Amino acid sequence: MKNHTCSKCGNTVYFENVQCVKCGADLGFDSERLVMITIEPLAEPPGAYHAIGYDAAPLRYCANAAHAACNWLTPALEGDGFCIACDLNRTIPDLSIAGNLDAWQELERAKKRLVYDLLRFGLPLDTRNSGGERLVFDFLLNATTGHLDGVITIDVTEANAVERERQRLQFGEPYRSLLGHLRHESGHFYWNVLIAEPGKQEAFRELFGDERMDYGAALARHHSEGPPPDWSTNYVSAYASSHPWEDWAETWAHYLHMVSAVDTAQAEGMEPRASGLIFGAAWPFKSYDIHREETFDALIERWIPLSIALNNMSRGMGHNDFYPFVIPAPALKKLAFVHHAIREYVAALSTANQARANTRPRNDVTPPRPAPASKRPSPRSLIGRVVDRLK
Ligand SMILES: [Zn+2]
Ligand SMILES: [Zn+2]
Ligand SMILES: [Zn+2]
Repeated sequence: MKNHTCSKCGNTVYFENVQCVKCGADLGFDSERLVMITIEPLAEPPGAYHAIGYDAAPLRYCANAAHAACNWLTPALEGDGFCIACDLNRTIPDLSIAGNLDAWQELERAKKRLVYDLLRFGLPLDTRNSGGERLVFDFLLNATTGHLDGVITIDVTEANAVERERQRLQFGEPYRSLLGHLRHESGHFYWNVLIAEPGKQEAFRELFGDERMDYGAALARHHSEGPPPDWSTNYVSAYASSHPWEDWAETWAHYLHMVSAVDTAQAEGMEPRASGLIFGAAWPFKSYDIHREETFDALIERWIPLSIALNNMSRGMGHNDFYPFVIPAPALKKLAFVHHAIREYVAALSTANQARANTRPRNDVTPPRPAPASKRPSPRSLIGRVVDRLK
């Protein structure tokens, strides 16, 4: 996460803020530029704002700001009133039930961090134009957390810290968080986008195993017998050993954890070196930037000293480890696979978008016509039964 600054007074502001604590100015997240911006109310139209410091069309807060569930901005004169992240919601908790508003606010805070990751990479949230699916969220009480055909279902109970800790202990997990769930489930969606392509699956299978093995039976076995005794020599987590799809989703989530933490360290001026953290450094690594030649090895060179230092800090405060995992060599290869899969996909996507823009007549502003859905086989049949963490 980048650092953000109030453009009225220069104070540091944070991703979840709606007001600058120093000068009192209104703040919101600009999902086009991926920064927090300072805004001022306009006389007209009602509820509209303009951005201080740059020219932009009038903005308004997402409709979910009324529930203190969102601080993202959206165009004031177009759209349905929801921001790009809240537009992904299909079901939100019933707010007439006590506790659900608090839970939903927690879920939205975590979801915004995930969507931020995805937007920073330039990953698509909707691939229906190329025969894929749209990323959709259902926040349901007492549902099974999982992914199916683009829909991520999150059990609202997970937002209850007591219940989440109970489940963490019950499943013997070193780490359980809303953001962790969301990053994991988004991995299933992006497996369909990045890997369910002819020619991609062979490389996937070489590292992760054959995802065509019976998914239901594999999960049932994992829940009844537990992971193989030597899981820690091959997988990033015990759950990753249950099935190749779960291995991918766990690996994807860990990759997003690393990229996000390294990006934040950079924003805070911490440079992790083998000898420890150096502060006040201006380091060149851009973890989300697919246009630069940032290697996976360079990410890991930073991630390892960073996570060790943060684990020690965390223990010093009496908390659990910041990152309570040890990554074995085979899991590093899988993380590198995710690193390259994202870059290859996003680079190809931007080349295709560029080519489409170049072939369009200059004055033509109509959006590109969606490609016929039949061009790519639907991955539905492959992933139709993915659900997680059977209770
Ligand atoms: Zn300010
Ligand atoms: Zn919103
Ligand atoms: Zn999963």
